[in-house]
Amino acid sequence: MSLVSKQLLDNQYVMNTFARKPVDFVRGQGMSLFDSDGKEYFDFLSGIGVLNLGHCNEGVVEAICEQVSKLAHVSNYFHVEHRGELAQQLVELYGYAGKVFFANSGAEANEGAIKLARKWGHEHKPEATTILTLGQSFHGRTLATVAATGQPDRAVPFAPVMPGFKHITLNDIDELEQTMGSDTVAILIEVIQGESGVWPAAYSYVERIDQLCAEHNVLLIVDEVQSGMYRTGRAFGFQHYDIQPDIITLAKGLGNGYPIGAVIARDEIADTFQPGDHGSTFGGGPVACAAALATVQQMRTMSIEGVSLAQHVESLGEYAREQLAGISGIESVRGEGLMIGFSLANSDALSASALADALLETGFIVNAIGQEHIRLLPPLVCRKSHIDALIGAIYAIIATE
Ligand code: PLP
Repeated sequence: MSLVSKQLLDNQYVMNTFARKPVDFVRGQGMSLFDSDGKEYFDFLSGIGVLNLGHCNEGVVEAICEQVSKLAHVSNYFHVEHRGELAQQLVELYGYAGKVFFANSGAEANEGAIKLARKWGHEHKPEATTILTLGQSFHGRTLATVAATGQPDRAVPFAPVMPGFKHITLNDIDELEQTMGSDTVAILIEVIQGESGVWPAAYSYVERIDQLCAEHNVLLIVDEVQSGMYRTGRAFGFQHYDIQPDIITLAKGLGNGYPIGAVIARDEIADTFQPGDHGSTFGGGPVACAAALATVQQMRTMSIEGVSLAQHVESLGEYAREQLAGISGIESVRGEGLMIGFSLANSDALSASALADALLETGFIVNAIGQEHIRLLPPLVCRKSHIDALIGAIYAIIATE
């Protein structure tokens, strides 16, 4: 089907929730996407931080095909292949004795974490129902996660959203100390805020959160939907900090393109959920778990140019940030590993979306955020040559402005 036909059908029959670009991608492989004319693009967004092992990763494709041809679905009333093994691997990566609930998306994983924290609170700290979240955070688009998201404009059109969330300012330790108390059951944070432009939380701030949680009997929930699955050069973003989250949530890179989300909680908190408390028809199904298990196993064992995936991501991210910082016209380069953001010094002359559009034209996919920020979330199997190509393209566009 031609791009024009796809556009006509989408415009008439699909709700208008995304402003789509007029590009007709038909195939992906590793770092590359190909359009219907055979033009190659380097994908520096990988879905939105989803294809951490690259497009059409062989191991993941095989695992999905094999499982779907044997048994695509069986209800959560029964045991299925891959689920327990996947949970075991995730708990090992998490680093504490824990258990996993499987969902289908990031928002659904956060909903699960919110429900778990609330029920834990009713049993262990009955006066506390408030969940603190951070300004400019993003936790999803359901009514609870849109209320949790620290961008009130996103919730206003859908009022009344769920009560019980209080937003505090990222990195403001005084406000944190004044706010966290007897009415607080949990704090939900991203250690690096992705959706608003890649803003890492200060170490001292995150570590103070951890201390205050221990003092006030408050659960620390880390939303690793975007920063998890080796994106930042560690299995999970929280592992850059000296903290011990009680609950973490995952999705995006977990299934390398196959939808799956997860809530991982310490045993004593996870055991709050009893049969009937929470569930999902599709969550933890055999195909999703096969995809995620193949993803996680590769991530834990693969080597790229002689180093582990984590080391590769860390050093390539550092290299990319150095190169970006060397381009005049770019300022405030930030992030960890291959979760990278930067700002444009003169966004009146060249806005982020103008740069993203010009890059798309040249064959590079990046994400513009607002007027001045660009986010890069390439597949983690990205190489130095891809970074060099992107830097060259950015440099050429900025130089001609
Ligand atoms: N949490 C974070 C940190 C995210 O970046 C996102 C999506 O961008 C979500 C939650 C929501 O995930 P999903 O779109 O899979 O519901």
